[in-house]
Amino acid sequence: MVLKHPRHHRHAARDMEINPVFAREPVHVPRYALPHGEMGPDTAYQIVRDELMLDGNARLNLATFVSTWAEPQALRLMAECAEKNMIDKDEYPQTAELETRCVHMLARLWNAPDPHRAVGCSTTGSSEAAMLAGLALKRRWQHRRRAEGAPTDRPNLVMGINVQVCWEKFADYFEVEPRYVPMEGDRYRLDAQSAVALCDENTIGVVTVLGSTFDGSYEPVADIAAALDELQARTGIDVPVHVDGASGAMIAPFLDPGLSWDFRLPRVASVNTSGHKYGLVMPGVGWALWRDKDALPDDLVFHVNYLGGDMPTFALNFSRPGAQVVAQYYNFLRLGHEGYRRVQQTCRDVAVRLSTEISKLDAFELLTDGSETPVFAFRVREGIEAFTVYDVSAALRERGWLVPAYTFPRNRTDLAVLRIVVRNGFSHDLADLLLEDLRRILPRLAGQDRPYRGEDDAGAFAHGVETKCPRTPGPHE
Ligand SMILES: *Cc1c(COP(=O)(O)O)cnc(C)c1O
Repeated sequence: MVLKHPRHHRHAARDMEINPVFAREPVHVPRYALPHGEMGPDTAYQIVRDELMLDGNARLNLATFVSTWAEPQALRLMAECAEKNMIDKDEYPQTAELETRCVHMLARLWNAPDPHRAVGCSTTGSSEAAMLAGLALKRRWQHRRRAEGAPTDRPNLVMGINVQVCWEKFADYFEVEPRYVPMEGDRYRLDAQSAVALCDENTIGVVTVLGSTFDGSYEPVADIAAALDELQARTGIDVPVHVDGASGAMIAPFLDPGLSWDFRLPRVASVNTSGHKYGLVMPGVGWALWRDKDALPDDLVFHVNYLGGDMPTFALNFSRPGAQVVAQYYNFLRLGHEGYRRVQQTCRDVAVRLSTEISKLDAFELLTDGSETPVFAFRVREGIEAFTVYDVSAALRERGWLVPAYTFPRNRTDLAVLRIVVRNGFSHDLADLLLEDLRRILPRLAGQDRPYRGEDDAGAFAHGVETKCPRTPGPHE
C-alpha cells in the first residue's frame, strides 16, 4: 500500500472529474439482490449501459421482425411521451384521440366495408391482439351455441401448425382445443381443404396467417374463406376467419393491393398486426380490429371514464405506455400511403435480390424468395454432408450476423432451414456485406469432415423461441 502525498490526492480528485464514472464504480455491484444504498445516476447508467454492450447488434439481427430503426423525430416523440399512460384517457385525451385515428386509418387500409363501424384498439403487440381476437371468437360462438341450446364446453380453433406461439398460448390459457393442420410435403402452411376438414359445430374460428413466421409466405386467406362459405352452404356451420397479419397486414395493402385477404372478404371477422413490425414503430404496439360491432361481443368490452363520459376499452392490461401509439400515428402521418409503399417495396427488393443471390450459391436451395413478406427461408442443398444450417448460422454469427436456423414442425421435422427477415434499415449494401461473408465461409464449411454445430448452438439465439412442448421448435416471432 503506497501512502499518497497530499498533492497526489488533489490529482486524484482531478482525475475523478476527468473520468469520474469508472473511478466511482463500486468493486462489487450486486446482481440479484437490491443494493443496500444508492449510487450516483451516472454511475448506475454507465454500469447498465456497459453490461448491455454484450447484447447483439440489433441492426445485424436478421432473426427479428421487430423494428430496429426509427427516425430521430419518432424517437424524440417517444421520449417526450414516456409518462403517458394509455389507459388515462381522461388525462391524455389527445393520446386517446391519436389511437382512435390509427384504428380508423387501419380500418380503411384493410378495406372495412364501413370504416366508421369497424372497432379496434391498440395492444402491446400481436400476441395481446391475438388473445383479444381469440376471446371475441370464443364468446361469439358461446352466445350462438347458448341461443341454440347447444353445449359450449368443447370449443376448438383451427389453424396451421405454422402459427406463431401466441395462438398456442391463446388455446392453452383460454381453454380452447387447438386443431393444427400439419405441414405435408412442400406445403408449409394452411390450405383450404385441410382447414375445412377440421371444422365442426364447435369451431370458434379459423386463424389464417398473412406472413408465416416459418417462411414469410402468405396463407391463401381468400381460398380458405371460400371453402368455409361452401361448408356453410353445405352444412349450415358458420366459421369466421381471423387473419393474423402481424407482419403481412402492413405489407400486402401497400405492395399487393389486388390481393383480397382482408375485410373485403365477408368471412374475415378480425385482423391483427404488430405496429412494431412493418408498422415501423419501436417495440411494443399492436393493433386488433373487428369488421363491425357484431364481431366483437359487447359483454367483453369494459368502460373507463373519459372526460366525464364513458370510453369503451378492450385490453388485457390496464396501464400501458402511450408513446408507441403516438409513434404509430407519427409514422402514419409522416409516411402516408406512398411512404409506406416505398419502404416496404425497398424491403421486398432487398429480400428478393438477396434470396436470388443466395440461390446462386451451390450450397443452398430456397423455400421462399421474399416476394410476399420480405422474409425468406432456405435450406442446405440435399447431398451436402459437410455442414448443416446450424454450421452456417454459427459461422455467420462470428461476424455478428444473427441468422436463425431451425427445424420445421410436424410433419416436416426433417427439414432444417435458415431464415432472413429484411426490415427497414437492412439496405442493399448491408445485404451485399452479408453475401460476401456467406461466400467467404462456404469454402471453409465445405472443407469440414462433418457438421460441427447442432440445433443447440442455434437454439440459443433462434429469435424468440418460446414453446411449452416440442410442437414447434421454430422461430416464434
Ligand atoms: C410476431 C408475430 C406474432 C406475435 O407478435 P408480437 O407483436 O411479437 O406479440 C404473432 N403472429 C405472427 C404471424 C407473428 O409474425
